[in-house]
Amino acid sequence: MNFNSGLDIERSYYVATANPAPCHPRLVGEIDADLVVVGGGCTGLSAALHAAERGLKVVLIEGGRVGWGASGRNGGQMIIGLCKGAAELVKFYGRERARALFDLAFEAWTLMLDVIQRHAINCDLKKTGHLIGAVSAGDMACFERELDCLTTVMNYPHMRILSAAEARLAVDTPYHGALFDALGGHIHPLNYTLGLARAAVAAGVTIHENSAVRRLDRRSGIKAETVLGAVRARNAILAGHALLKDINTRVESRIMPIGSYIVATEPLAEAAAVIPSNATVSDTRFVVNYYRLSADRRLLFGGGERYTPSPPPDIEGFVRPHMERTFPQLKGRRIDYAWGGLVSVTTSRLPDVGRDGDVYFAHGYSGQGVMLSTLAGKLLAEAIAGETARFALFEGVNPMRFPGGSALRGPLYVLGMLWYAMRDRLKR
Ligand SMILES: Cc1cc2nc3c(=O)[nH]c(=O)nc-3n(C[C@H](O)[C@H](O)[C@H](O)COP(=O)(O)OP(=O)(O)OC[C@H]3O[C@@H](n4cnc5c(N)ncnc54)[C@H](O)[C@@H]3O)c2cc1C
Repeated sequence: MNFNSGLDIERSYYVATANPAPCHPRLVGEIDADLVVVGGGCTGLSAALHAAERGLKVVLIEGGRVGWGASGRNGGQMIIGLCKGAAELVKFYGRERARALFDLAFEAWTLMLDVIQRHAINCDLKKTGHLIGAVSAGDMACFERELDCLTTVMNYPHMRILSAAEARLAVDTPYHGALFDALGGHIHPLNYTLGLARAAVAAGVTIHENSAVRRLDRRSGIKAETVLGAVRARNAILAGHALLKDINTRVESRIMPIGSYIVATEPLAEAAAVIPSNATVSDTRFVVNYYRLSADRRLLFGGGERYTPSPPPDIEGFVRPHMERTFPQLKGRRIDYAWGGLVSVTTSRLPDVGRDGDVYFAHGYSGQGVMLSTLAGKLLAEAIAGETARFALFEGVNPMRFPGGSALRGPLYVLGMLWYAMRDRLKR
């Protein structure tokens, strides 16, 4: 199996600028632990860190390299809340439950800042805000409704609406206006993930890389088996996200992996004119464009999605038109890095956090997992220690499985997505 080494992460800006990090040995032979964690992204590492801080003996097994899944290749955008907007949360779950879910999601922000500070993680943190640009005039009415809900129901005062002129001062592309969250920002996600791994090891976690779990034997306790070894434990956490395959049908049936692609330009002398606010930016397209500046003044631009597992043959050629449509002033600029990764999307766009007996899991952040994954990992560690109230909030809104089972979920989903993508093209 080709564990998290595909989709050109070797060609990513993040690998080229990664902080030095140790290699962890393969798992060889059988060992015992209280908890075995499958997956070395932010969900798994945060769960391992928080469980070890509670005194558990934790072994984390990663099929490829730590951080080389979505956690180390994403847009680095710190976006507060859940992928499902506040007004929609209220519509589906009522004011009280929606508020509790939003508060929990907001905690992801405070938790991440605390983790970065407590463990001195050097990850280019910028607290410069998150701007959502309106690509059609109709989006502004949705922004008004969302802002009203955020202010009155969620008691969240950090969001405001920008006019088209104000938005243009923040980012040099024409939007009809924007919704701006002053608490958003961006990070270097691979360096954040590697920092989390360092913190986990310091707390006592044992990490094994290049050790894909092939089978979870649950006949007597839990035994996570790799080709060369196994871990026996009381509990397991499945944190394999979009790359988890043939381990647990319940878990895998709730998410759809979707390819998302990013390019990094050469360093731009005019970077401060492109995004004067240095905010992290996304837009209202269904197939969203998302972008920001790096610490060394490159534009990191994500755009276009593919609903087949294979990457486009030419990632730069795939993303460049989206970038140049947004910033015609950057037409023809050199692209130094191009890569992609798999986002895991759920039917409700809410994360799938839960348990199947002694096996706990969290995934399906639907493109908004930079902060939520660290929070979800902490909630899993809490639940295993018997503190289930906050975990139960997410467990209570578990998304439905994709219709059609494993054979049909792909084709049916693709049809739906293509319809939305076509609608996008009619905007503006
Ligand atoms: C291109 C891209 C851009 C994104 N941009 C943003 C963004 O800007 N903002 C945002 O909030 N979110 C973004 N996301 C989403 C975010 O990156 C993810 O939600 C988050 O990183 C998920 O973390 P994770 O730890 O659950 O999964 P991952 O980081 O994918 O980690 C899972 C790990 O499990 C391992 N694994 C899987 N199966 C096994 C097995 N059987 N045995 C051993 N190991 C296994 C994998 O190798 C992998 O390392 C983006 C995602 C992508 C792909």
